[in-house]
Amino acid sequence: MTPRVQALVVGGGISGLVCAHTLRKAGLDAHLFEASPRPGGVIQSIARDGFLLELGPQSFSSTVPLRALFQDLAISDQVVQAPEQAPRYVLVDGALRPVPLSPLAFFTSSLIDASTKWALVRDLLGKSVPPDADESVAAFVRRKFSPLLLDRLVGPFVSGVYAGDPERLSLRGAFPSLHESEKSAGSIIRGMLRAAKTKTGPRERPTLLAFREGNQTLIRALSKSLGPSLRTGVSIAEISAQNDGSVSVRFESSGATEPISTKSLILATPTDVTGSLLSPLDPSFDSLLAPMEYAPVAVVSLGYRISAIDHSLDGFGFLVPRSSGFRVLGTVWNSSLFPGRAPEGHALLTSFVGGATDPTAASRPAEALTSLVHREISPILSISAEPVFSNVTVWPRAIPQYNLGHSDRLAAVGKLLRKYPGIWLAGNYLRGPAVGSCVEQALSVADEVREALEK
Ligand SMILES: Cc1cc2nc3c(=O)[nH]c(=O)nc-3n(C[C@H](O)[C@H](O)[C@H](O)COP(=O)(O)OP(=O)(O)OC[C@H]3O[C@@H](n4cnc5c(N)ncnc54)[C@H](O)[C@@H]3O)c2cc1C
Repeated sequence: MTPRVQALVVGGGISGLVCAHTLRKAGLDAHLFEASPRPGGVIQSIARDGFLLELGPQSFSSTVPLRALFQDLAISDQVVQAPEQAPRYVLVDGALRPVPLSPLAFFTSSLIDASTKWALVRDLLGKSVPPDADESVAAFVRRKFSPLLLDRLVGPFVSGVYAGDPERLSLRGAFPSLHESEKSAGSIIRGMLRAAKTKTGPRERPTLLAFREGNQTLIRALSKSLGPSLRTGVSIAEISAQNDGSVSVRFESSGATEPISTKSLILATPTDVTGSLLSPLDPSFDSLLAPMEYAPVAVVSLGYRISAIDHSLDGFGFLVPRSSGFRVLGTVWNSSLFPGRAPEGHALLTSFVGGATDPTAASRPAEALTSLVHREISPILSISAEPVFSNVTVWPRAIPQYNLGHSDRLAAVGKLLRKYPGIWLAGNYLRGPAVGSCVEQALSVADEVREALEK
């Protein structure tokens, strides 16, 4: 007899784990299959030589659903918060300049020229209409504001979130609220203010969080909650949709192929895997999903003796405009943000290399990446000695790119999925790559699955 379950989630990154956990909390017989030996996807922490480092996300923005999830998992007391006023810097002309974080700071900052400030006033008082066609982030910033704003602030910000290329990222795909603001209010500023006013429900101050013992804490807690319903080292060989709406799955585990049947299949896998799993149902799934670009990123963590750094490291870290010619995209000052990241008398600095604008850089050997980062950040932070610790992690497909056409592709995938009422998608290519966005998307999928099963 083929075993039958109410819900089967495939892919045990944060999206799949939260989806399966939420379904089980609702009393459903949900199971999760993860192909690799460990769950968590790109969320991984390691402790070595007294340093505690994150191989993927270094921290995440606090949101109401995230706080509720931590409460539910009884791990709220393990959350640590970055200092609220921690300044962020951008590298301009070889020096670190504070990023203006409030309207007043923006209007008084020498980072921004008068014509950009005037463009903001024009946006506030005037009216503009976005083009019908998908517009890139770069084209949008140039049209509404200035090339300087793109180079000094928006480009680096886009690197920080998407490791993306603003010339190819779609405004409506990557920053839908900006597009909506202009469309509905004729002004970005008025539209954003209006959206903030009409927002209902509890609000969360925008703070940066991590876990005292590493972000792996979240993965451990979700895995513990799932217990034996989480299986690792399991990969899906074949999926077929049945006439009654259920889905038959054949999977491989320990060299054997087994069948399982489910009323709801949730694919929380990257787009290339999702496309190929769904292609036997309709090859268009693969042709829509597989070409979605992912930016490669190398995460380079270096530990230094504090005595070797002639800089206060007072802040979050810095981002680097692409026009600077540097290959480092940005550096997070981990040990300035959270406790226990480095042994006494040491600092931990994590830099990112590669991204959509410099994809080949991420595939250099670890030693070359270590020396590249050390060479580039040393003059910026006045570092006078070699690192005493290093770790390099390369993610060849780190972050999905919400490039031009992304929203249309997703809409077409959604249309195809309507033919298969037992199949749902979850993951970081759907509602934003941030951990908080993945959690919110997974929670809404879990709600839809629960409602469908209760019908
Ligand atoms: C270097 C880096 C830095 C980041 N920094 C931040 C940050 O500072 N803040 C922030 O909020 N976000 C950050 N992010 C983004 C965020 O971490 C990710 O978008 C999010 O964790 C992705 O979760 P996911 O579950 O959607 O995908 P993934 O984590 O990619 O999980 C997908 C899972 O599917 C599994 N899988 C693949 N194929 C199969 C198969 N055939 N069968 C079963 N399972 C399969 C994979 O093994 C994996 O476990 C960062 C990401 C990276 C890579």
